Amino acid sequence: MNSLLLAGGRVIDPANKLDSVADVLITDGKITAIGGVGAGFKGDRLDVQGLVVCPGLIDLHVHLREPGQAAKETIATGTAAAARGGFTTIVCMPNTSPAIDNSGTVALIHERARKEAVVNVLVAGAITRNIAGEELAPIGSLKKAGVVAITDDGHCVQNNDLMRRALEYARMFDLPVMDHCQDYSLVTDGVMNEGYWSMALGLRGWPGAGEEMIVARNILLAETTGARVHCQHLSTVGSVELLRQAKKRGVPISGEACPHHFTLTDAAIAGGDKFWDKDGSGIFGFESRRNASPAWPSYDTNFKMNPPLRSAADREAVLEGLADGTIEILCSDHAPHCDYEKEVEFDHAPFGITGLETELALSLMQLYHTRRLGLSDLIGKFTVAPARLLGIDQGTLSVGADADVTLFDPDREWVFDKTAGGSKSVNSPFYGWPLRGKPVATIVRGRKVWVE
Ligand SMILES: [Zn+2]
Repeated sequence: MNSLLLAGGRVIDPANKLDSVADVLITDGKITAIGGVGAGFKGDRLDVQGLVVCPGLIDLHVHLREPGQAAKETIATGTAAAARGGFTTIVCMPNTSPAIDNSGTVALIHERARKEAVVNVLVAGAITRNIAGEELAPIGSLKKAGVVAITDDGHCVQNNDLMRRALEYARMFDLPVMDHCQDYSLVTDGVMNEGYWSMALGLRGWPGAGEEMIVARNILLAETTGARVHCQHLSTVGSVELLRQAKKRGVPISGEACPHHFTLTDAAIAGGDKFWDKDGSGIFGFESRRNASPAWPSYDTNFKMNPPLRSAADREAVLEGLADGTIEILCSDHAPHCDYEKEVEFDHAPFGITGLETELALSLMQLYHTRRLGLSDLIGKFTVAPARLLGIDQGTLSVGADADVTLFDPDREWVFDKTAGGSKSVNSPFYGWPLRGKPVATIVRGRKVWVE
């Protein structure tokens, strides 16, 4: 018998409404007891006083880039980054090369993950063949192959009838449909938020309505079909309000938010000075610490993502949506790219940033340390909420559950260092930032897969 005792931590398990100092006993990869089980225990023991012990964090929006783009990331490096970020389960997006639009590719990912992954890897299949938005992928056989959701992330199905059929199939197979909300006719070739800064910088704008149009479409189709629709990486005032009203009516719709959208704004593309001058001054609950404010130039492509960084009002709306429960899930949209791809003109750089390793700290800083959310509610958005959406048996510390556990220090101050990450790529805007809150150990099925 293989046991591990986590002794004396603050155990927070939102699914079971538990928040108290307790021991957690793990035996043969399962949670076997919670409470005062430490006395007389003779086995592997980790003293975790002062740390939060919670269900292993789940990130349902990660680009692992395999198959086909191993120069950016692999299952091995992406899951190493996840472990360092405190994640025990991630869902990989299907916009790989080839796309994950058939059962053979799903089996390939499962097989590689079994050999190379250090955390659990779940697979999202495509909605349409080759993510081209033209004909449906074989949704039934994807489900049989084990996908936990379908999405064309990176792209968005523009044909509303095709989307309706996708939702009908998804409902039949009890799969959530996750959607990257982007109306192509409104967004065209926009590269940053449409507003003052896109005008000032001479960059093509990506209007908020380009997202809201599809959020509204998804609400209507979720209502029509009864399928569960999940709107990915919400970024605007209007999207949050649409979701809030739809949920009041009982529409089966949900949403997620990423730390970059509720920390940064489009002013960041004008450079560090412009950002800290106004939009950056109130973040994290303290006034801009001038001497500690990291610097970066204008047109830095590590601030280019899709959907783009928005205005301060949009950022505030996303934070409010998280605080009042409208947005129930936190995730990274971890999107690694090679240096040579990002080191080009802003117009030509690919969208996306890495996020697994800074996600917990930024969420703690913008939500917990600013008193918008308590720890248990915040942890719920990384555990029980994504588990429920995906219909997976994870995200709790219930006795008998897989011993996927995350240990973190909510107050530890640290700096994200470019040379010390697990990801193969370094396209993060947060290097050199003073962060607060840090994962300390990640345990998957009873095995310590990362310890600081
Ligand atoms: Zn996306």
